[in-house]
Amino acid sequence: MKDENCIFCRIANGEIPSRTIYEDERFRVFLDLSPAAKGHALIVPKEHYANLYELPEDLAADVMRLAKRQAAVMTEKLSCDGFQLVQNNGKCAGQTVFHFHMHLIPRYRSDGQNIAWEPGSPSDAELDGVKAQILS
Ligand code: AMP
Ligand code: ZN
Repeated sequence: MKDENCIFCRIANGEIPSRTIYEDERFRVFLDLSPAAKGHALIVPKEHYANLYELPEDLAADVMRLAKRQAAVMTEKLSCDGFQLVQNNGKCAGQTVFHFHMHLIPRYRSDGQNIAWEPGSPSDAELDGVKAQILS
């Protein structure tokens, strides 16, 4: 399942060149062109799934296995001080390319980045309500 209008389908399947750092039958990992930090890369399945909701469970498990392996390799090679996994689904969650991808972001003490959120301060009742809503 490929989408000719999807840039990540075209990169993943080699139609558009990329700075690939890993490839197998199902995935390509390549450098992000607008990196948050040195070495920022993306894990992209070769099949088109728009987001996490569409991604089959077995592929989701393999994405995490690959992320773990890449984190080890990239940490060793780049000597980063930490490592961040980011995965956005939906425009309001920051997704801009609608082909599932996992960001691999090496972090450095002095990288000056701030990939964070504003912490909320819900009451106990609100937290209890959210829990009840999810469990209902
Ligand atoms: P997201 O906002 O989670 O959808 O992330 C999309 C990411 O894809 C961004 O970090 C972009 O910099 C990156 N990106 C978009 N087009 C390309 C491209 N042609 N090659 C490499 N990275 C890209
Ligand atoms: Zn695609």
